[in-house]
Amino acid sequence: MTRKKMQKRKPGFTLIELMVVIGIIAIVVSIVLPAFSLSKKKAREIVCLANISALGKAWLIYAEMNNDNIVVANPLPESVMCPYYSWVKAPYDPDNCTTAEEITGIKIGALFPYLETVDVYHCASDTRHTSPPMDPFGKGDGGYRSYSIPAGLYGVSYNPNLKKFSIENNYTDIIRKTDVKSPSSKYTFVEEAYGKGMNRDAWNFIPNPADHLDEYADPVALWHGNSSTFCFADGHAESRTWHDAQLIQTTLEQKDGPLADYVSNDDADWLAMGFPYLQYIGP
Ligand SMILES: [Zn+2]
Repeated sequence: MTRKKMQKRKPGFTLIELMVVIGIIAIVVSIVLPAFSLSKKKAREIVCLANISALGKAWLIYAEMNNDNIVVANPLPESVMCPYYSWVKAPYDPDNCTTAEEITGIKIGALFPYLETVDVYHCASDTRHTSPPMDPFGKGDGGYRSYSIPAGLYGVSYNPNLKKFSIENNYTDIIRKTDVKSPSSKYTFVEEAYGKGMNRDAWNFIPNPADHLDEYADPVALWHGNSSTFCFADGHAESRTWHDAQLIQTTLEQKDGPLADYVSNDDADWLAMGFPYLQYIGP
């Protein structure tokens, strides 16, 4: 990209715009709180929606500034793309990372120049970094970053056994923004609560369009009652309230797990319909 072109599209303007919007929302929340007796919890959900919306807009701007190529979703340091292009960079040892290391990874991530504030990466109701990980195998005090990008958006699957990146999903990744069809229905950011500490890789959902059997999902976060926030590829954010007891239980345990037998489950269907990927290639 030429210098002239860079000057025409100043990411700084977007930063100001985002900060103003977040500031206005914070002021509005503080004004309407007493009037409508909104709970502190509800106010945090509104700020959370503003956060995930800001991330989603930065994701769109990144693609616009990079010839429509989207940012890499997988923060793991082993990623061949990660050192320079991943949206955030996980600490070298994500199993034992500290919050400080996680924040450093946010600041050297490819999306940070479009936001320049760490706060929008964190939901105020996400307390994982202040207590030991829920999963007994988890270590460290990571768990500050509350949002993840779906793996179908340039997640570059990582196989820990082979210690390399490989196509192990039953779909291929989208790598260009124009390949996201129906952008208003495909989510670009998910509120995730992984029980081992930090949300290390991209948020994955293994679809099975044939019969929905053996589908798999990383956990979503339940910091706002039974709701989680999402941002979509058109930039809008919304809160999804879950109804299925199994999904809620799995989520409360902060585990990833199979969604087998979820054939008629509205929640699993909603996740499946909104999960972006380029092409289904079978198991
Ligand atoms: Zn939240």
